[in-house]
Amino acid sequence: MPSREATETTETRHAETAHGPIEYETVRCANCRHEMQTDDVIPVGVGLRETDDLFLGEQTRDAYTADEVVHLCSYCAESTFGYDGPASGFDRLTATATSLSPTERAVLLFGAAALVALLALDLLVFL
Ligand SMILES: [Zn+2]
Repeated sequence: MPSREATETTETRHAETAHGPIEYETVRCANCRHEMQTDDVIPVGVGLRETDDLFLGEQTRDAYTADEVVHLCSYCAESTFGYDGPASGFDRLTATATSLSPTERAVLLFGAAALVALLALDLLVFL
């Protein structure tokens, strides 16, 4: 899990509509400082940080996660990485990381471990 996600501060904006006042959160692009709604954000992991080891049977593998998560606008994501896929909201990123129960985390870890194991088997076939 990224250690410093959501360190960029969100700002709460207020607007008047015909149906009354509304409130929404914005965040600034880490590159161009464009202000965008949190749903339009593209989270980008920067750097690697070692996390607790994943156990695969009797073997241990080092596990890494992003050292920092920054938030880019779609323009900067495309011009920097060529990424033109859908945005993945700021709120959803942090909610996913924080709202999982221990059981869900275990299932996710097991799934990731199974994928790594399958990949390792594929590599062995080619060696
Ligand atoms: Zn930008």
